[in-house]
Amino acid sequence: MTRRRLPLHPRPLSGEALSSWLLRLARAYRLDLHTFLVRALGVDVAGVPQGTLDLSPPVGVIETLADRTGVAVERIQAMTLAAYTPLLIDALRPQPGLFRTYVARLGVLTWTDARACAPVRDLDEGRWLPWITADLLNHEQPTGCRRCLVEDAVPYTRLCWRAGWMASCPVHGECFETGYLDERDPSWSYAWKPAEPAPPALTFVDGLTLSAVTTGAVRLANGWLHAGLWLRLLRALVDELTRPTRLLRGAAYGHVLHAWREAGFAQRAVHGAFPPFESLAPDRRKTVLTVAGHLLRHLGETELAELTLGQQGRRLPLLPAARAPAMLHSNRCRPELNGPSLGASTNT
Ligand SMILES: [Zn+2]
Repeated sequence: MTRRRLPLHPRPLSGEALSSWLLRLARAYRLDLHTFLVRALGVDVAGVPQGTLDLSPPVGVIETLADRTGVAVERIQAMTLAAYTPLLIDALRPQPGLFRTYVARLGVLTWTDARACAPVRDLDEGRWLPWITADLLNHEQPTGCRRCLVEDAVPYTRLCWRAGWMASCPVHGECFETGYLDERDPSWSYAWKPAEPAPPALTFVDGLTLSAVTTGAVRLANGWLHAGLWLRLLRALVDELTRPTRLLRGAAYGHVLHAWREAGFAQRAVHGAFPPFESLAPDRRKTVLTVAGHLLRHLGETELAELTLGQQGRRLPLLPAARAPAMLHSNRCRPELNGPSLGASTNT
């Protein structure tokens, strides 16, 4: 049954997270978010787990929102992390074998066989999803770039800030902050919490990722890399940087140690076994991404473009520039991970 349209309904903004839009809707009625959910959408907030609005909204929320605002169901679904499946994330339902499929069968620096076979400390395959971290799903303490909000005509939080693949804003060179994005005037927060400049290595890697998640591709020296492949390679590189160094082979050991030292961390930092990246505290994730940025900058864009996956003699499957626009915002265009140019490890 169609219910009466809400008289005020600010439209969703480009790249906006569902929780951000809901908050703006609630504010239009001078209500807090929970009260708005109950009164306008009939959602029992007592049964809504914290941090699920952008991951898996309660049943009926999207349809009711569409009904009451006139915004298409598909447009609202695209404001949740489901928009990134299967292009950037295989699925939003944890499943056995997902870590191996998404992370451990790809290698940037070395063969994948050792990582694929070695257990990952504290990996819970019943809960693990690539790049998804509980702290970033907390819409009551959102994380993101304050400067973006200051410059927004209408401040809003972005969906791409809800996953752990970036820790800074490459546009403004500031590290992400938590807890200051829900202010009506975000510029106020700088009075008591100055901006933390992002290390150049971090903005470098975050710039590539921002391109991936907003345009569907990463531009390298001699072509375009599919966004889905970039995110999987970056996650594989993070794995190489954080797994025990005994799993590294050949030149990878030197590359990894050099990157950690260049980022200002002791060699011993890489000898231990880390839990999965998604289980790390935000500052630790920022450190790991910074080290990844150091390593990628050390390789250089040209060498990066000529990377062979896992040093197995298989070149990255770059697409010519003319094909890049076809990938933009296409959730159906998943990278072909089993193709002849991107096979699994065949170490000998
Ligand atoms: Zn920004």
